[in-house]
Amino acid sequence: MKVKICPRCGSSDIKWIIPQNWSMWSCNNCSFTGPVVEVDKQTQEEIQEYWSKNKKKILAKTKENTEEDDLSDEELDEMLDKLFDEK
Ligand SMILES: [Zn+2]
Repeated sequence: MKVKICPRCGSSDIKWIIPQNWSMWSCNNCSFTGPVVEVDKQTQEEIQEYWSKNKKKILAKTKENTEEDDLSDEELDEMLDKLFDEK
């Protein structure tokens, strides 16, 4: 069975934000917005594992692409650190 997940962190906690635009989703876990991917459970777990190990690198990369969002990315990074420390 396939599940729709966030391509960045592998979370299935995603929300369809614009009914007129099927490809715009929002992830409640990492604040990703954009198209989601449909994968099987095993791939989802792999993405989640990759994300938890590399989230800083991934977010740093995102930062390069969206330099205007410097502050919010740092805030997001901090937020994620707290989130993952609790787990
Ligand atoms: Zn996500």
